[in-house]
Amino acid sequence: MSMRPRGGPGGRFLDEEEKKNAPKVTKELLLRIFSYLTPYWKQMAVVLTAIIVSSMLSIYPSVITGRIIDEGLIGRDLNKLISLIIISLLVTFGSNLIGVLESYMNSWIAQHITYDMRNQMYRHLQKMSQRFFTSGSQGDIITRMTSDIDGVRSTITNTFTSILSNVITLVVALVAMFQKNPLLAFLGIIIVPLFTLPTRQAGKARWTLTKESQECSDAVNGILNETLSVSGQLLVKLFGREDYEYGRYEKYNRKMVDLNIRESMAGRWFRVVISTFSSIGPMILYLVGGILMMKYDADLSVGDITVLVTLLGRMYGPVNSLLNIQVDWIRSMALFTRLFEYYDMPVEIDNAPDAITPDEAVGNIEFDHVFFRYNEDRMILKDVSFKLGQGRSIAIVGPSGSGKSTAVNLIPRLYDVTEGSVKFDGIDVRKLDLAFLGDNIGIVTQDTYLFNGTIRENLLYAKPDATMEEIEEACRKANIHDFIISQDKGYDTEVGNRGLKLSGGEKQRISIARVLLKDPAVMIFDEATASLDSISEKAIQDAIDPLIDERTSILIAHRLSTILAADEIIVIRDGEIVERGRHKDLVGLGGVYTELYNTQFNAELPKEDE
Ligand code: ATP
Repeated sequence: MSMRPRGGPGGRFLDEEEKKNAPKVTKELLLRIFSYLTPYWKQMAVVLTAIIVSSMLSIYPSVITGRIIDEGLIGRDLNKLISLIIISLLVTFGSNLIGVLESYMNSWIAQHITYDMRNQMYRHLQKMSQRFFTSGSQGDIITRMTSDIDGVRSTITNTFTSILSNVITLVVALVAMFQKNPLLAFLGIIIVPLFTLPTRQAGKARWTLTKESQECSDAVNGILNETLSVSGQLLVKLFGREDYEYGRYEKYNRKMVDLNIRESMAGRWFRVVISTFSSIGPMILYLVGGILMMKYDADLSVGDITVLVTLLGRMYGPVNSLLNIQVDWIRSMALFTRLFEYYDMPVEIDNAPDAITPDEAVGNIEFDHVFFRYNEDRMILKDVSFKLGQGRSIAIVGPSGSGKSTAVNLIPRLYDVTEGSVKFDGIDVRKLDLAFLGDNIGIVTQDTYLFNGTIRENLLYAKPDATMEEIEEACRKANIHDFIISQDKGYDTEVGNRGLKLSGGEKQRISIARVLLKDPAVMIFDEATASLDSISEKAIQDAIDPLIDERTSILIAHRLSTILAADEIIVIRDGEIVERGRHKDLVGLGGVYTELYNTQFNAELPKEDE
């Protein structure tokens, strides 16, 4: 029925790559696609019925034409003529009405299926590990998935229904033709491919030319961009390459002319082929029908022959569409295959099947011979072991890139260890419930993330049911309350996109308050490396102090004041613990700590600490 042109990058034909990557259609694949459709089987049944009824009805006026001619016109019966015309009009109207219902249900189903798929995708993406999000190429997958799901929608609304309605129209037309006259119907079946196949060939030739001329036009544009740009033009002039560049341009320009003429002529041939072949078909039917009628006295009326010719015309569209549908089908299968591959991307960090949720979190942390690498090429952490008892605090220091952030990321399982184990209250974190870890480990990251909204909304993210008293208390502890209430709108101040309207120090203190509100047993503070002025630094220091006093804390420290606040210092270099102890013990050792102290910390040392 539908002859609507299909969009999509490749048009009506598959290019080499699509042919090569055409997926294997297995029973599993089809069943899996089917599993997305089954929840909507009732609606699908309605669509199916609507397609069947409307396809059948759309053929009916062609059949009535025979009676209009035989009974109305040749039989000279005006009443019959009028009533047949009215029936024909009503049937056409009815078939179109049902078509409206079909389109509505169809898009309803497609939207609901893609709604399910998008939800499933979001859930799946949320489970993906930090590794997934930090590697760029996988970020692209997210965009890919979104556009692929859109492709699924068009597959359901176009491809599937188009196949169905075309097949049904064809079958109904064939049955009607065979009922009228099997011999002529048979003839029709032979003729249809005769005029659809050349059309297809012509289309393919044209498609190839279009692609070629597209490439040629890209080349022309490339030359223009290269040689007519400021620096390109200068290069051409300085090296006296005008004639060479002109020659190059002229060659492509001529090729374009040639291709464009051939392309427009291919279109012309295409039309010649269509119109000739589509009129040959009816003529053959008239001829053979006439011979049967006149020479063999067959039981065939003028109306019958007209019906057969009209029905033959009705077959052209569906056959043509079905020949193209193979392309759509392969693309759709490729689309589903790719989507399922995304869905099957393994979830790297997931709850263990028998994950433990302890009643209470104490806050003991232990690194037990931990080795870790992001990828095969390099071990980032090597044999890191330390214990941190409840309420104690540890400062991790070391040169940039030594693995400090990496180490703390292993505690809430942003990544899993490669070897060894990280324990929380004596239990391997991989055995603990992820939600439990999330609730009991608070991290203030180096670059604080605030979303676009008010300060209050950002704080509530940690504890949606927090009271105003709780919020204010957390902010007082984080030493940010006074700043917030000094703003015109107080807690309802907008922070701007990613918190842009706030200074680095303010953002950091708000994010400390946010974690305090969650009240976790273990607190990790990854100090920003960016230097702050001494007032901001004092404010941050005052914010960190209560955090250290009350709970187990790990401080990745870049400032001496933070380091001095901790009970113990661990010095990491190239992923290994090289020194540990207290400031006064380490500073005189003459090792990594001494060097860090001399280059980084000494300059900012507050006078009273010396
Ligand atoms: P800084 O003090 O500069 O924040 P750091 O000691 O916290 O440094 P990490 O961020 O832990 O260092 O990085 C340790 C090493 O791991 C670096 O060499 C870094 O390039 C590498 N690295 C960090 N994140 C990734 C990642 N997602 N994938 C691959 N390598 C990574």
